[in-house]
Amino acid sequence: MPSSTVENYLKAILHLQGNGRGSTTVGEISRELEVTPGTVTIMMRHLKERGLVAYEPRRGLSLRPRGVTEAMKVVRRHRLIETFLVEVMGLDWSEVHEEAEILEHVISDRLLDRINEMLGDPTHDPHGDPIPDRRGVLAKDRAVPLVDAGGGRYRVVRVSDEDSVLLGWLNEKGLKIGEEYEVSDSDRAAGVLELSRRGGKRFQLGLEVAGRVFVEALP
Ligand SMILES: [Zn+2]
Repeated sequence: MPSSTVENYLKAILHLQGNGRGSTTVGEISRELEVTPGTVTIMMRHLKERGLVAYEPRRGLSLRPRGVTEAMKVVRRHRLIETFLVEVMGLDWSEVHEEAEILEHVISDRLLDRINEMLGDPTHDPHGDPIPDRRGVLAKDRAVPLVDAGGGRYRVVRVSDEDSVLLGWLNEKGLKIGEEYEVSDSDRAAGVLELSRRGGKRFQLGLEVAGRVFVEALP
């Protein structure tokens, strides 16, 4: 089994078990990775043997502590690579996720350490996602999806990195991580929220998109 396949499974489980239940299912993994449930089951047996997941057929499955550490290593590589591609290579934040999906499996620890050093040991990637530290520990934030926030003032903390079209569109609107916005949800029934920046233009965000933008409420 190529290690990149194992790494993608670990990363997917880490992502899916962060759903509040603390566990996921074969069905969810199969949808996330677009493989058959049978393929997932075979992989889960393999990962269980290696002590990476806790898995009993027809029960929830989750990463064991070693699995979490391994998954966090991949997440660290992914986010440091994205940061490098933006900060050093000058790519746009909408262009780096797909590249990082490939490079995260092939880059050596030595090169990654150099990249980290060169970037000054960054804590967040260009999309605002926290970068796990060397031991695989991830800083938590209190951000909520914008779609769940009511009207008020918010700071944009992070944006989902997976949809390059969305990221390109947010570029056009001039939305940036760390910026503060006034949010009006008076048109929520019509499926949109309205955002405005002090001195800036107003723009509308569909509720689906607002589920992929994470914010912290300002006092
Ligand atoms: Zn990414």
